[in-house]
Amino acid sequence: MSAVPPGGTIGILGGGQLGRMLAHAAGRLGFDVHIFTDETDSPASRAAAKTIVADYHNHAALAGFAADVAVVTTEFENVPADTAKALVGAGAIVRPNPSALAVAQDRLEEKQYFIANGLRTAPFARVDTFEELRAALKEIGFPAILKTRRLGYDGRGQARLENDLGLQLAFDAFAGAPLILEGYCAFEREVSIIAARGEDGAFAAYDLCENEHRGGVLARTRVPAQADAAVAAEAQSEARRVMDALDYVGVLTIEFFLMADGALIANEMAPRVHNSGHWTIEAALTSQFEQHIRAVAGWPLGPTARICDAEMENLIGEDAADWRALAADPTARLHLYGKREARAGRKMGHVTRLKRSEAS
Ligand code: AMP
Repeated sequence: MSAVPPGGTIGILGGGQLGRMLAHAAGRLGFDVHIFTDETDSPASRAAAKTIVADYHNHAALAGFAADVAVVTTEFENVPADTAKALVGAGAIVRPNPSALAVAQDRLEEKQYFIANGLRTAPFARVDTFEELRAALKEIGFPAILKTRRLGYDGRGQARLENDLGLQLAFDAFAGAPLILEGYCAFEREVSIIAARGEDGAFAAYDLCENEHRGGVLARTRVPAQADAAVAAEAQSEARRVMDALDYVGVLTIEFFLMADGALIANEMAPRVHNSGHWTIEAALTSQFEQHIRAVAGWPLGPTARICDAEMENLIGEDAADWRALAADPTARLHLYGKREARAGRKMGHVTRLKRSEAS
């Protein structure tokens, strides 16, 4: 595909805050953005030139969308396979490609893919029946984490298993969904690598991010992560291997557990821009959002150098009610996603604080 020129239209599947921030970045490069979402009045649609609100299985609406855009990308990983197929069938260029999306949607396939590409993972086993759960626990041992293979996010769709007590109850709560059992990793820290691959195979990665989760939801990201340079370099080369193998175009994130001995254990990947990369808006030469737009539009990747140390804090639920104080705080770069309702656990915005790096 030849590069999409300024004035061209980038299609984005999904209407959340990631789509909104992608739309802001695309606008700066002179693109129009067309959002396809099943949600009315979405955060992304209010930052875009056009929106189609329709079901992700509405083939006529998808064909209309495909005809209007130069390229389609996505801001969420659970794009139904049928949707991606319908878009490709209607002649759309979908980036990242549908097979990359498919791998990231299934925790079992994802882990198998990591292993096939030389990454380490927690011990894991496929679990479809209670008998399989018992057998897997014999191998993996307690504590362990039982997760749905699909559609889990922000710690939802998972249960920590400490012992045999209440095992049947925990299993039954998943109501027959395909599952994966993972050994519990007593990690020292959680880190993520955000990397981009261009249409020509060019690769660029950001500095390793260190993430703090609360209740399974990202609360805070710090850059740079407290990790040896060799660990950070290893995370980059693992991301590159995975992206090359997937013939990936766009930004991809891999989340790891960093163990006390320096081992990186790959937990999951997101085929998109990521919450742990929001700091790049102010603290990197090219934000992850601009980088993703550049990649999917067939443009050269931008430089990823970090300008200074940074800390990003999510505003979850009622946290965003403090917007007056945050807006008055000269150290806080405030981002609000325009969500109409602050439900508990909902990501409403974030704040980035720039830190003087030790070198400066
Ligand atoms: P996930 O949905 O897989 O990203 O899990 C959400 C959070 O649960 C992670 O960020 C970890 O804090 C924790 N977690 C998930 N899987 C494991 C594991 N195998 N061992 C230890 N902690 C885990």
